[in-house]
Amino acid sequence: MTTYRANPDFMQELKEYGDLDIEACFNCGNCTAVCPLSTESDNFPRRMIRYAQLGLEDELLSSKELWMCLYCGECTKTCPREADPGEYMAAARRFAIAKYDRTGIAKRLYTSAAFNVISLLVLAVVFGVFLYSYHGTMPMGTPIKFFEFIPSPLIHNLGITAGVIVAITALLGMTTMVIDLNKHTDYPEGSKLNWWQALWEAVGVESLGQKSYRSDCETYNPEEKPWYLQKWFAHASVMWGFIGLFVTTAINYLLELLHVKETGTYMAVWHPIRLLGILSGVLLVYGTTELIRRRWKKEDESYTHSTPSDWSFLILMWLAGVTGFALDIAVYLPMAQIWGYWMLLIHLIVIGELLLLAPFTKFAHAVYRIIALYFYALKPVKE
Ligand code: SF4
Ligand code: SF4
Repeated sequence: MTTYRANPDFMQELKEYGDLDIEACFNCGNCTAVCPLSTESDNFPRRMIRYAQLGLEDELLSSKELWMCLYCGECTKTCPREADPGEYMAAARRFAIAKYDRTGIAKRLYTSAAFNVISLLVLAVVFGVFLYSYHGTMPMGTPIKFFEFIPSPLIHNLGITAGVIVAITALLGMTTMVIDLNKHTDYPEGSKLNWWQALWEAVGVESLGQKSYRSDCETYNPEEKPWYLQKWFAHASVMWGFIGLFVTTAINYLLELLHVKETGTYMAVWHPIRLLGILSGVLLVYGTTELIRRRWKKEDESYTHSTPSDWSFLILMWLAGVTGFALDIAVYLPMAQIWGYWMLLIHLIVIGELLLLAPFTKFAHAVYRIIALYFYALKPVKE
């Protein structure tokens, strides 16, 4: 049997991660009555709120249900004490991400606007100076020759090095989370588990297919907005756009390695890989613009409180999409423009920052949610 110790400072620590007043909760149960995740056997989110009130930090960190919450905000609307349970759930997830991260960077990104600005500026200068120190010429003519300005092997080697650092950091965090979640998984000895089905539900149905998000939007959509204006589509656009761009970049690199395509040449605009890249770019720019607009306008409960990290992540993603499109345009302009070369440098700086900060931002949130979804769907198979 697992025993948990109480942390008397837990409530205070949680408050660093969100604007909440959960001490005001008097356990009326309204939030549980409206929450789509609440079941007869689980009074969600009230159980999570009790953990905070009793200082049960370990209990909270080992709850996969924490990651099931979609921040629909229904609980916040119905709370008579204005304790903001929806924001409490979001703050608890930020707290968990900071706990899983051994470097302390996630906590600083969530809690300090100054740290966000300074770290982004320092990274931009370091990446910029490093890349520029290897720069070549800026030949004029069509099409633009990006890789004569910043050599392609330098970009690839830098990307691979950063990717390895990020993968190690992310793996450490994921391992900590899995150990924590395992404290609450207690299957009868010798049970056969639905490994593959759980994986499909976590990755295919919920993450890529956004099933819960979509049904939540359908349930709480009094204005009956068309699908492309709904919250789930903005979120999905960012995710699909990012994955699409990652896949097209990887395929391009592979084709160059296999000498199927020459470095610095461009596929025709109707080529399926190029089309996938353009569509992904459109989705990324649309999704990030819409999410920035929603946060700026504080459109509903889930966008009322934004951490410095929420803003820096969205702005970096938006910049990655917009500078990527600018590079595409530079290729097709009749005469290569000098700004195209500088745009490449800015684009690489933004991508480098996104990559290096991935284990501490919304990327980490997305990965941790998939792990929690997997554990949530994992059940013994009836034989
Ligand atoms: S609705 Fe508010 S006061 Fe009632 S249990 Fe939920 S958080 Fe507490
Ligand atoms: S915000 Fe989360 S906890 Fe609150 S009602 Fe929605 S899903 Fe439930």
